[in-house]
Amino acid sequence: MYIDSHCHWSDPRWNKTPEEIQNNLSAAEAQNIHFFLQGGVDPVDWSKQKKLKKMFPQNFGLSFGLHPYFVAAHDDSECEITLDLLAKELPQAMALGETGLDFRPHIMKDSMVRQIDAFENQIELAKAFKKPMVLHIVQAHDKALQILDIWGVPPEKGLVHAFSGGFETAKEYMDRGFLISVGGAVTFSKNRKLQDCIEKIPMDYLLLESDSPDQAPEGWIGPNNSTSIRVIAEKIAQLRRMSVLEVLEISTSNFKRLFRMP
Ligand SMILES: [Zn+2]
Repeated sequence: MYIDSHCHWSDPRWNKTPEEIQNNLSAAEAQNIHFFLQGGVDPVDWSKQKKLKKMFPQNFGLSFGLHPYFVAAHDDSECEITLDLLAKELPQAMALGETGLDFRPHIMKDSMVRQIDAFENQIELAKAFKKPMVLHIVQAHDKALQILDIWGVPPEKGLVHAFSGGFETAKEYMDRGFLISVGGAVTFSKNRKLQDCIEKIPMDYLLLESDSPDQAPEGWIGPNNSTSIRVIAEKIAQLRRMSVLEVLEISTSNFKRLFRMP
């Protein structure tokens, strides 16, 4: 049984009907991919995640958080109210996230201070509720690492989702106990920096994610679903001169170790 460490089955762009959900699930299960940890975005997304889990309790892992996109698009008081709601909802989730920082100018606009506040608040919530964190960090690694050091990494650690940096950056997170979750970006021939990183990182820090419906692998046709894990595993197997099954098995056992799954 393999695992998609990060995906968005409740994203409004797909899985619009129970049939579509069932088809995506059957396609993944046909590839022996049976468990899907979600990336939380906002309260609407959290409640859709809960519905998915009700339908397929064995297959879905809940992760609730305020995504940097949500924080960037809402004002201080809306974020504060939503953080209170997060504190109420979080006990039923297995992870806190997505949380973090996204400093790309078109996302950030005037939200830098608010993003930092929301991230710090969520580090505290992760500690209080003993949940591993799912980090979304784009063009903000130095700041994120600084904040994690000041506030302290939760003992439950977490994962850095859609990692696409170099080895030195990955090492900063691994030194703090985070696992590195890799998606479609590694398959792009132009992405040498990430491929070089994947050649070097200890295999017991590696996770695989589809981030579906986003971040499809190079040359992928149709909507990106959790079956793209296989293509990502193939690329990593080639970079590490291992078998695809080894990559799938190691990443699955890493995930289970992080989340203390049997
Ligand atoms: Zn995501």
